[in-house]
Amino acid sequence: MSAPKRYTITAALPYTNGPIHIGHLAGVYVPADIYARYLRLIGKDVAYISGSDEHGAAIPMRAKKEGVSPQVIIDKYHKIIKQSFVDFGISFDNYSRTSSKIHHETASAFFTKMYNDGEFIEEVSAQLYDAEANQFLADRFVVGTCPKCGFEESYGDQCESCGTSHNATDLINPKSAITGNIPTVKETKHWFLPLDKHEDFLRKWILEGHKKDWKPNVYGQVKSWLEDGLRPRAVTRDLDWGIPVPLKEADGKVLYVWFDAPIGYISATKEWAAREGKNWEDYWKKDDTKLVHFIGKDNIVFHCIIFPAMLKAHGDYILPDNVPANEFLNLEGNKLSTSKNWAVWLHEYLEEFPNQQDVLRYTLTANAPESKDNDFTWKDFQAKNNNELVAIFGNFINRVVVLTNKYYDGIVPAPNDFSEIDEDVLAAVKEFPNTIGKSIERYRFREASQELMNLARLGNKYLADEEPWKVIKLDEKRVQTIMYVALQISAALAVVSEPFLPFTSNKLKTILNIDASLSWKNVTENAVLLPTTHQINKAELLFSKIEDQEIEAQIEKLQATKIANEQENKVITPQKETIEFEDFTKLDIRVGTILEAEKVAKTKKLLKLKVDVGIDTRTIVSGISESFSPEEIIGLQVSVLINLAPRKIKGVESQGMILMTDTPDGKLAFVAPEKVVKNGQEVN
Ligand SMILES: [Zn+2]
Repeated sequence: MSAPKRYTITAALPYTNGPIHIGHLAGVYVPADIYARYLRLIGKDVAYISGSDEHGAAIPMRAKKEGVSPQVIIDKYHKIIKQSFVDFGISFDNYSRTSSKIHHETASAFFTKMYNDGEFIEEVSAQLYDAEANQFLADRFVVGTCPKCGFEESYGDQCESCGTSHNATDLINPKSAITGNIPTVKETKHWFLPLDKHEDFLRKWILEGHKKDWKPNVYGQVKSWLEDGLRPRAVTRDLDWGIPVPLKEADGKVLYVWFDAPIGYISATKEWAAREGKNWEDYWKKDDTKLVHFIGKDNIVFHCIIFPAMLKAHGDYILPDNVPANEFLNLEGNKLSTSKNWAVWLHEYLEEFPNQQDVLRYTLTANAPESKDNDFTWKDFQAKNNNELVAIFGNFINRVVVLTNKYYDGIVPAPNDFSEIDEDVLAAVKEFPNTIGKSIERYRFREASQELMNLARLGNKYLADEEPWKVIKLDEKRVQTIMYVALQISAALAVVSEPFLPFTSNKLKTILNIDASLSWKNVTENAVLLPTTHQINKAELLFSKIEDQEIEAQIEKLQATKIANEQENKVITPQKETIEFEDFTKLDIRVGTILEAEKVAKTKKLLKLKVDVGIDTRTIVSGISESFSPEEIIGLQVSVLINLAPRKIKGVESQGMILMTDTPDGKLAFVAPEKVVKNGQEVN
């Protein structure tokens, strides 16, 4: 596409069945926000759109669990989610919701037009049915084994393990998620979108048309689906929560949430356009509009296959120019999970790190899961803050502002002759908007954020090399020039940091007393950003150091979650078969004292122990090295099964076995007498 006239940027509609966490921000909302803010800064016409998805089957499920109506659930989480976006500076032009009237009307009309044009297939088919719940089972109401990868907890519409999208009847061994019953089958009529009919168009449009500009992870997934062949997908459901199917014969049926949700982007645009006095159709139907969908990888099939097929079948609509889906973000090595509370919740983060939204935005961008799954760790978060934001960006700005106030009462000094270094630095600064912009336009936000930090690095190095605090004693004229150059770099940083660090950018603009209208282009094209005699304000810290104990507290919090989850999941082994007293007396268990302990070479788990068991001192090999260091167990009394037949373990003969049990955090504990007793004492 040659220079688009306007941009429609959509960010995935979050389900209102829980608050949002760092995975959502990293995967979708921060990159989309950087993109939207950047485009506005270069003067583009942008509609940045999202909203709450309030018709997911997960919502009535959650409502049932909490014993309230679905409306209570969506109202509660819509409010929390919307506030989190405001708090983190996600600059939506409109954040709507799919329970709104305008959306119900838009989605119904969309269906009706397709229906009238004969774009659906009607089919009476056998569907899974839970007689006890009196309900058909689809999507999240049914779990079973994925026919593709064998994952046993796959949902009816999509497997969370391999990402395959399928029909509920494809599941092997399906079970109702409501009652746990094995479903029966019952006939029901539904409307299907014949995706197979659109296969040729999709192949041509994506496989031929977007081979070069779509991300390899997105292109690869789409290609594999197309190669598997597409099948008709039902766009209606037997449910009482959702948008009623606008047909007389469809009583008690609603539109499938994945049919209505993406239309939510259109309704949200309509709502915004009406408010702003714009024409929404320009943003969805004109060829010179660039449509970009920001999503996580679990949504690729819907945004690259199903929604485009809908748009094409409906007619009049443009197709997405790109779908820069991200991979997943993990947290401290484990998959983020709402149900397991394995997450950093945005509202909690702000309570614990008040006013530090930009630190999280920066960390999540610098470590974004753009091409593969990535890990968020608190240590890395601390390092990015302390070593980059504080030590480079913050340190540079603070020095510039403090010195300008100290030497010149906050007035930008007139420069004298520029040295070659000054000229080079000023020229280099002018290149940054272009470099950063190019990365953003290619959806390489990590790279872009590193370039932003490189600009701060350039400034920091310039000051460190030129040392105005030393030169001031020798050559006051030279210091005027140095400070003038440093102030220009600071102003450039205030502008180009805006997409990434909007709160910091604002603060910095206030400190430098910069006109908010200073644009991206100005950094490259203006001869000066901060003219001589311009008055700046007093210094204020942009970032502050995050201490070790703050990070340790976060890690402990996660550790506590892990222990709670493990306890909840702990299965108590059922009782073994009954034995006679005689069987027990065969076991010769004695109390002994550990005299020596050392690691068995080339093993992770094994310790070689010397234990005094009263009768003798013997060697025992025990798999306890991951729970104990050798030093900490010397002198401990333990229980030992001494008449176990000796056996060689890793070349060492073990003459007995130490009795152990498991602790809730997955470590081992000794089973030992409560008081000190004589070695060799029997346990019976
Ligand atoms: Zn699977």
